Amino acid sequence: MHRPRRTRIIATLGPASDNFEMIKKLSEAGADVFRLNMSHGDHATTTKLYNIVREVEKETGRPIGVLADLQGPKLRIGEFSGGSIDLETGQTFILDMIDTPGDEKRVQLPHPEIYEAVQPNTELLLNDGKIRLLIDKVEKQKITTTVKVGGELSNRKGVNVPSAILPLAALTEKDKKDLSFALDLGVDWIALSFVQRPEDVKEARNLVDGRASIMAKIEKPSAVHAIDEIIALSDGVMVARGDMGVEMPMEQVPPKQKKIIRHARRAGIPAVVATQMLESMITSPVPTRAEVSDVANAVFDGADAIMLSAESAAGMYPEEAVSMMNRIALSIEREPSYRRMLNRDSTMPEATTADAISAAAKQVAKTIEAQAIVCYTGSGSTALRASRERPQAPLLVLTPNIGTARRLALVWGLNCVYSQDAVNFQDMIDKACTVCHEYGYAAIDDRIVIMAGMPFGTPGKTNVLRISRVQNSHVKI
Ligand code: PEP
Repeated sequence: MHRPRRTRIIATLGPASDNFEMIKKLSEAGADVFRLNMSHGDHATTTKLYNIVREVEKETGRPIGVLADLQGPKLRIGEFSGGSIDLETGQTFILDMIDTPGDEKRVQLPHPEIYEAVQPNTELLLNDGKIRLLIDKVEKQKITTTVKVGGELSNRKGVNVPSAILPLAALTEKDKKDLSFALDLGVDWIALSFVQRPEDVKEARNLVDGRASIMAKIEKPSAVHAIDEIIALSDGVMVARGDMGVEMPMEQVPPKQKKIIRHARRAGIPAVVATQMLESMITSPVPTRAEVSDVANAVFDGADAIMLSAESAAGMYPEEAVSMMNRIALSIEREPSYRRMLNRDSTMPEATTADAISAAAKQVAKTIEAQAIVCYTGSGSTALRASRERPQAPLLVLTPNIGTARRLALVWGLNCVYSQDAVNFQDMIDKACTVCHEYGYAAIDDRIVIMAGMPFGTPGKTNVLRISRVQNSHVKI
């Protein structure tokens, strides 16, 4: 249970990690949240993975978050009669709505929205940005382009349109089916791909209807521009660097990563850094020095969570990848400069009791060198505010709501314990002492700081800050 690392780890599940033994190993190596990628795998496989995660959770006793990542409105070209073509730089290439196999001169682009939204002299990117087409002419159902960067192009490759906000619904029909399935399954987070505008999050929120938290994946330039509005409507954000590095020049991704993390922390919602973090570990048991540096920098940036994609889903070394992330994060968090960076990016508490108590708890814990801060929460909102302060003392979250415990598993520094609500003031102290002692955060007579709300069990009422010495309480949690 005692997990000293503050930065959380998300591991994507897939064929390399589709059984109890491996998922348990990943959890023990440090994975706090598992991601189910709805772009791959059928519902039966996803159900199997979800159920295994819950079995592992039962066995380890630590609440685990599950994040279902919706595919989103991914645009694709049609097919070629020979399966693929070679595009020459400088040649003309046409995209149209004609439903016949393509060739060296043309291919189907079956998305009418694109024809209405794009302009001459802007770019279309194909196959993860490897192929670049400059638009010469736009007609109702035909786009004529010049190939700026050519190469091999095969069936159903992805299309990115960085320059335009496309009149696409936030969720496709597939996404809606996947969403309803994932909510019925009981996932804790829903990640929305290709969010273009704040309204996309609103639309998804209406459908999710409070059954899970919503993470907006930031990958489109338009989403970066509207980041504060999107953050205000989301429960978390993901710096989805894969598509972001296609949609905008790659060298702009690192500053965007820093900005998104900073803004999310200011708002008090978790920020996840994703994609290619330890990419070489798909086939190698050790990462490159540059990858180690990338993970370290995401930790230094103050990210709540760092994510593995193919490394844990389809790679040869899933456990080693999680364990590597764990070691990097722990090592950086021990650096004095990490604390200085966290303090540098901190913002003033807001004028609420929850913020006042959270800021006070951090300061009090520092002054008296408390071994832990214990936060009672029902909905999780006070724990989020406590995490936003980034206190030095470990944060233990006691909640009678298992959904809250699971959702908070991807938030910086929160160690959640599923427990009965305190029934009175003494019980509040006893439970906090028992958890700190039994989970190895504090010894008898050590001091801890407790944040709670009275009357107990009333949401939004954090109003108590108590310093206690750990007693031999051993009450039922
Ligand atoms: C990304 O693009 O970085 C990302 C996380 O999304 P996906 O893995 O769905 O492409």
